[in-house]
Amino acid sequence: MSYPAPLEALIDAFERFPGIGRRSAERMAFFALRDPRAKELPQVVRDALERTLRCRVCGNVGASDPCELCGDAKRDARVVLVVEEPRDVEAVERAGVHKGRYFVLMGALNPATGGDERSLNLRGLIERAAKGEYDEVILGTDPDAEGEATATLVLRALEKSGAKVRVTRLARGLPAGSALEYLHRGILEDAMNGRVELRTRPQSG
Ligand SMILES: [Zn+2]
Repeated sequence: MSYPAPLEALIDAFERFPGIGRRSAERMAFFALRDPRAKELPQVVRDALERTLRCRVCGNVGASDPCELCGDAKRDARVVLVVEEPRDVEAVERAGVHKGRYFVLMGALNPATGGDERSLNLRGLIERAAKGEYDEVILGTDPDAEGEATATLVLRALEKSGAKVRVTRLARGLPAGSALEYLHRGILEDAMNGRVELRTRPQSG
């Protein structure tokens, strides 16, 4: 026995979300059938798709392009913290431990599957670094296998570009295998203060 086609289509739609299997998708679909507020969902989704912009400078999501953070003249534009996801920016901003700019890769490399670096938003960072727009690039990818592989990739790309920039990585004091977004303020602050130098700024000439 199968469900009516429109219900089946709704279950399929939910099942496309990351981490949602068939059973969870069914539960969500049946919940939507019972909950009158579900009628608001199409509009909410449409609004989010239409009004959430990607910042062309840092790749983060925002209500404007350039985003609020890139447009903030009080932030240090010469120090850039590279993170995997917009939610990492939120976490670091909540902790208030970074006064520079951000760059959001929109993902991480998976060393197990080989990963596809072309899916990462990386080019803008490398181009700006090569043009000498940064004094320091802080690699703030997660302290797990994906994050380490991604940090290595970014470091290699910066070296290859010939960018004259200092590259640092958040301190190893971060609990291994954790995600930046769940860390407490104190831990993030320690990680930022104790960041390690991966590459000193090459001298000009
Ligand atoms: Zn931005």
